[in-house]
Amino acid sequence: MTLNTNFCGPCTFIHIALTRFLLHHSSSFVRMASKTLTASCRCNSVHFTVTIPTEALPLKIHLCHCSICRYSHGAPCAFHAPLPPGVELQFIVPSGYDKMTSYRHAASVATGYFCSTCGCQIGGFESQWTISTSIFDANREDEGIWKFNAHMLPDSAPDGGLTAVFSAVDGHQMETENLGLSPQAIAGSDSKRPDRESKDLLAQCHCTGVSFLIARPSEEFIASPQSKGLISPSDKRKWLARMDLGDDSRLVSGANVISWMSVSADHITPRLPKDLLIGSAKAYCPTKDTLLVFCGTCGATVFSHSEKRPEIVDVAMGIVRAPEGAMAEDWNVWATKVSRPENGIRYQAGFARALTEGMQRWGAERGHPQDPGLA
Ligand SMILES: [Zn+2]
Ligand SMILES: [Zn+2]
Ligand SMILES: [Zn+2]
Repeated sequence: MTLNTNFCGPCTFIHIALTRFLLHHSSSFVRMASKTLTASCRCNSVHFTVTIPTEALPLKIHLCHCSICRYSHGAPCAFHAPLPPGVELQFIVPSGYDKMTSYRHAASVATGYFCSTCGCQIGGFESQWTISTSIFDANREDEGIWKFNAHMLPDSAPDGGLTAVFSAVDGHQMETENLGLSPQAIAGSDSKRPDRESKDLLAQCHCTGVSFLIARPSEEFIASPQSKGLISPSDKRKWLARMDLGDDSRLVSGANVISWMSVSADHITPRLPKDLLIGSAKAYCPTKDTLLVFCGTCGATVFSHSEKRPEIVDVAMGIVRAPEGAMAEDWNVWATKVSRPENGIRYQAGFARALTEGMQRWGAERGHPQDPGLA
């Protein structure tokens, strides 16, 4: 409807009254206006839409750093946004609830869901959905969908994890919120506490179905030609770690970024079989020469492996239980250069910039090199 705005004299009062009438009655229309978002995991088995009232946009993203989220995603934190009450997942056939595995544990009030085929964490449901924000590629061009709002439970890991790397996205300062819980209470969800005296590093998903130990680079390995480019000349006791914004990693983990430490496979106990399937692990191949391994019980991303580097496995750092925290700096030299930034920029430019700039600043302050394989 268009209004004639050329009012004069007494008609002005009619115009004002009419405008008030339209505003009042259009409020019900405004409430009904909505935006439909489309989500899909890497393998597309889980494929659905959610329809959000526009007044609920942007959806507020919180990065949850609690150990439950880290150990069940295999990522440095979860990237979650609560959906408004009553918003349901509308599956696109042939997708459906039967394509997901549910996971619920003693410390949780919500039930988590992940793709049974590729392991992608989809979200959790209690009385309403909290959704993973990394799986909405169909809407990546759209403005005003997301707002990076808060770092939740940053004290869960002693080093604060990504909380120490960036505190603002798109110029918006994020809140930090420990929900009044002590670090001990937050850490209480750990089924196995890190042991500072332990010689090896424990990696274990949340349900403990996948569990293994990582040793430091051996003298023999350091002296061998295989170690070239795989350990840092600046500290040969440590493995190399990096943040990865790649689309495949984002869509199999359900987290907007994942971190990996590259380890020579013969330094892992128990000895890994060729298919890397230990305990409750399942495999998914996003490309011909890449194998991604996740826990079939809790959904945590565990390994990435490329045929181009057969002796090396990339361990998802979210399941690594280093006493010093999520960045495991006593075990890793970090690349301050983030991997595959072009994928991250294409998906969510503001977050990708915050992370890439944050890693350079964080790394420079701690003496990590840009590319530790060359340092
Ligand atoms: Zn999938
Ligand atoms: Zn959490
Ligand atoms: Zn598990």
